[in-house]
Amino acid sequence: MGRAFVYVILGGGVAAGYAALEFVRRGISHGELCIISEESVAPYERPALSKGFLLPEDPARLPSFHTCVGANEEMLTPKWYRENGIELVLGTKVKSADVTRKTLLTATGETISYKILIIATGARAIKLEEFEVRGSDAENVCYLRNLADASRLVDVMRSCTGGNAVVVGGGYIGMECTAALVKNQIKVTWVFPGKHCMGRLFTPKIALFYEDYYKSMGVNFIKGTVLTSFENDSGRKVTAVVLKDGRRLPADMVVVGIGIRANTGLFEGQLNMDKGGIKVNGRMQTSNSSVYAVGDVAAFPIKLFGNDVRRLEHVDSARKTARHAVAAIMAPRKTGDLDYLPFFYSRVFTLSWQFYGDNVGEVVHFGDLSSGRFGAYWVDQGRIMGAFLESGSRKEYEAIAKAVKLKATVEDMAKLEREGLEFAFQV
Ligand code: FAD
Ligand code: NAD
Repeated sequence: MGRAFVYVILGGGVAAGYAALEFVRRGISHGELCIISEESVAPYERPALSKGFLLPEDPARLPSFHTCVGANEEMLTPKWYRENGIELVLGTKVKSADVTRKTLLTATGETISYKILIIATGARAIKLEEFEVRGSDAENVCYLRNLADASRLVDVMRSCTGGNAVVVGGGYIGMECTAALVKNQIKVTWVFPGKHCMGRLFTPKIALFYEDYYKSMGVNFIKGTVLTSFENDSGRKVTAVVLKDGRRLPADMVVVGIGIRANTGLFEGQLNMDKGGIKVNGRMQTSNSSVYAVGDVAAFPIKLFGNDVRRLEHVDSARKTARHAVAAIMAPRKTGDLDYLPFFYSRVFTLSWQFYGDNVGEVVHFGDLSSGRFGAYWVDQGRIMGAFLESGSRKEYEAIAKAVKLKATVEDMAKLEREGLEFAFQV
């Protein structure tokens, strides 16, 4: 049993949705494109799962956050795919891939062949079992990667109102889920191994602002340690977590966000890999010229960083790498190498920040942390390499993005600190 398509997108997440839109805008015929996804719904804006989806009142639900609403573009409902002649093969896992034969084998036993393949398999949450902790498959322990996880998290949260949660991991999931749990009237103890939250990006000073805010919302912090085991009731529920430092925390539920691994497994040994992902060139093309990779799974050269290869785990990168791959496929002569400015953001409680570029070099903080109007520049060899801003306006965010994009020259660090945002507006 088999079907053949000109273009196949493997994976049905953010990147798949934006790639589909780009294919349609550039003009494909009905029956040429197929998207295969393990998930049972059409591509959606994954960031909603830790934000609007978890709100206690009027939560976001599909279809309202199908791609590509996150970039103020069309909302691609299943009807849109039908009307554009795109085959959505949902609820279907691809079990193996053969890039020489140009075929994919699904778990249902179907062989799907392609002329051009776009790999958009994203990533999976790392499980505690990978750190020798057993029992994270308990009913009230939640990870958060897909819609099924988010729906389960909502159910568990609703059964715990007024209770205690332990959040494990000090990154994005920890930060956004802690805020969501608090909004849902759950008391949170946030446990992570680092000295402060968001260690991959925040400076200690930036982290202090958010941690103080979280404390004012009643969040309890336990830093510098990890979870070593769970205590259970007689059934499948966790009742407490035990930490490496010996502490025992009673828990009605646990949320775990300890990082991700890119879903590269189908292509190991077939395509070149780098930075834990599939290595691509500036046109998102892998070491096999018929295969492209985009989104969280792709490791691509960033012109702004001297073509240093990075694998980014953020939605803006998924959207733009996907569109760029399609441009390179459909208009190869007109499409050069992607010139991407890395962009990360988050929204928690009433706070909201954006970051552009790379957090390398010396940091200059500016503004007033006590009032929540502050930011930071990262300066390397006299040039702005990264910029962070809390509670900025659109114009302010555009200004810091431009300062990074142009790697603005810094002559005097003390002056940069004094000028703060003004510096960016002068670039
Ligand atoms: P994904 O969106 O993960 O999609 C991958 C798809 O491939 C999935 O549908 C998966 O089921 C499918 N798949 C994988 N393997 C197979 C297979 N073998 N067969 C069939 N299908 C397969 N980034 C931000 O910048 N800002 C945010 O606020 C933000 N919030 C986030 C909140 C959450 C809860 C999560 C989990 C991530 C968040 N991110 C955020 C990160 C962002 O969502 C990702 O960078 C983005 O989704 C990556 O897109 P992708 O298409 O590469 O992968
Ligand atoms: P992360 O990489 O942001 O953070 C992982 C955290 O887990 C770190 O604090 C790390 O110190 C900690 N950790 C690592 N090993 C641990 C262990 N054994 N025990 C306890 N803690 C451990 O990853 P995440 O928070 O799980 O997020 C998953 C993915 O989702 C990331 O790709 C992230 O970019 C994405 N995401 C992004 C956003 C956003 O951009 N706003 C929001 C949510 C999720």
